[in-house]
Amino acid sequence: MRNKLLLTLAACCVLTACTKSPTGRTQFMMMPDTQMSEMGLQAFTKLKQTKPVTTNSRYTSYVNCIAQPITQLVGGGVWEIVVFEDNSLNAFALPGNKIGVYTGLVNMVTDQSQLAAVIGHEIGHVLAKHSNERMSQETAMNQGMSVVGAVVGVPQTALGQLGMSALGMAAEYGVLLPYSRTQESEADIIGLRLMAQSGFDPRQSLALWQKMSQASGGQETPEFMSTHPANASRISELNNNMAGALQQYQQAQASGKRPNCSK
Ligand SMILES: [Zn+2]
Repeated sequence: MRNKLLLTLAACCVLTACTKSPTGRTQFMMMPDTQMSEMGLQAFTKLKQTKPVTTNSRYTSYVNCIAQPITQLVGGGVWEIVVFEDNSLNAFALPGNKIGVYTGLVNMVTDQSQLAAVIGHEIGHVLAKHSNERMSQETAMNQGMSVVGAVVGVPQTALGQLGMSALGMAAEYGVLLPYSRTQESEADIIGLRLMAQSGFDPRQSLALWQKMSQASGGQETPEFMSTHPANASRISELNNNMAGALQQYQQAQASGKRPNCSK
């Protein structure tokens, strides 16, 4: 069944619905971007109604100071950044340019570049349209969709309902549809580039993930630890990409990109 589905998806790629991710990976997508943004917006609005937003302005300025150079780099309009009062070591980003960071994570980091690594990773998920990809795969799987179905299009309302229930979960629990390991690795690589190009020290990503794995014992699983590459493989993959990232970091610094954010 799974093989048949993959074949179907491959066939779809020849005809329609396939794009390339920022790292050049072929992706199967069938949700319109506008609809993904709309769902992201709705989920974020609901989260802000159900979860306390921090009143600590130092935290808000700190997180904004770190996120802004990265969002400026990726562009695509205005990004909304909210710091939620919650001790979990968590952060997320939603389609439609929405970013949430929890105070627990802000408390944990000891360097601006560590938080930049998380924000870069989360923005990486959005840039690579991972929610769309997950939802498209789920939808295809659930509906046993045929090639014909993909080409002529599934009724928008059916897609919308599925999407809403998936992002509705995000709103309720503050987590997203779990990402695959491939997507997590991809978000790591994109995040590393983004932080380095924004002038943050990419080596701090290693410190961050090490801290995370030490601190997450017994805690609620944060988004980026959920289906994550095993810690060791994550670190070695970051190391494999570090030389290039350091070069980008030095170029950014030389061109005057020197973020200086403190709590
Ligand atoms: Zn992630």
